Amino acid sequence: MAAALDVKIEKVQHSRLANTTLENIPFGRVFTDHMLEADYIDGAWTNVVIRPYQPLQFDPSLAALHYGQSIFEGVKAYKNEAGEVNIFRPQDNFRRFNISAARMCMPAVPENIFLEGMRQLIDIDRDWIPALADHSLYIRPFMFATDPVIGVKPSDSYKFMILLSPTGPYYSAPMKIYVEETYTRAAPGGVGFAKNAGNYGGSMLATQKAKEAGYDQVLWTDAFEHKYLQEVGTMNVFFVMGNKVVTPELTEGTILEGVTRDSAITVLKEMGMEVQEVKISIDELIAFQKQGQLNEVFGTGTAATISKIKELRYKDYSMHFDTDHAGVANELKNRLTAIRHGETTDTHHWLFKV
Ligand SMILES: *Cc1c(COP(=O)(O)O)cnc(C)c1O
Repeated sequence: MAAALDVKIEKVQHSRLANTTLENIPFGRVFTDHMLEADYIDGAWTNVVIRPYQPLQFDPSLAALHYGQSIFEGVKAYKNEAGEVNIFRPQDNFRRFNISAARMCMPAVPENIFLEGMRQLIDIDRDWIPALADHSLYIRPFMFATDPVIGVKPSDSYKFMILLSPTGPYYSAPMKIYVEETYTRAAPGGVGFAKNAGNYGGSMLATQKAKEAGYDQVLWTDAFEHKYLQEVGTMNVFFVMGNKVVTPELTEGTILEGVTRDSAITVLKEMGMEVQEVKISIDELIAFQKQGQLNEVFGTGTAATISKIKELRYKDYSMHFDTDHAGVANELKNRLTAIRHGETTDTHHWLFKV
């Protein structure tokens, strides 16, 4: 349990909820009545407040805009038919947030502001959470540098915030993926393991070019040889080979350690699969595919949970997968959904009650 939190609460006079339809809201466009804010000033966190969602005002010299000290998290909460609300594994997002902060020379956020602040904010806006199948509340904690100073150095001041966004089903059609050989997402010694804003900015050109070529996303490869597989877009990637499932290992710091990745590994093992975290190259993958051993490929992430891949293209070679009969991906998705919505026993204590 997080320590008590000293938070000032200013509620809206008129909720916008009455004018909002919670069914089928597209991802990331609607925000609840309130947001949480905290300031890091003179070496300490202060001004913890939950107040009406509204624009922020800053000097144009805001450090985050110029030199990129900006990190975030993505978490989800679910409401069941009884009206109970649970957040999925927020302690893991808290831990990862402070790993990202340390890499970007930003201060750690205390557990009570992150977790207890998140719980109180969600409790205040709990009527905004759709209790509909496949709907959820997307939670966006983030932190950015706020010194009004143009100078390359870690900022002295920061703002931490949490926004809440109700979302409808995140249907992702089976994807066509292009194996990237020109651009690089992450290199050893870099920031690939951190959830910093710049990783996303830096990946957009490759994704845009893949889209122009008729693909949905890229499969990132290593920076030196463009052979070893990393991630698919902004998701971790899994390869199903018979009773074995392979996913790239995390040892080089070039892969974001997904909470969904960890959940998938745990549940796949419960399904009786053997899971291997290894270094795997595109050549090895193609060799397995040519022997008829590569059955399914999918990505994992908080937004879509599991995204099946129907085509992988490397140079002139295309591999096709039958996503209508993706038994492992389907079973994994069903089991994760049941756990997240509280429909099965939470044996791993992944649910955090609001
Ligand atoms: C957030 C993210 C993921 C998925 O992490 P989850 O915790 O499962 O949502 C994977 N790769 C990248 C690059 C990410 O930013």
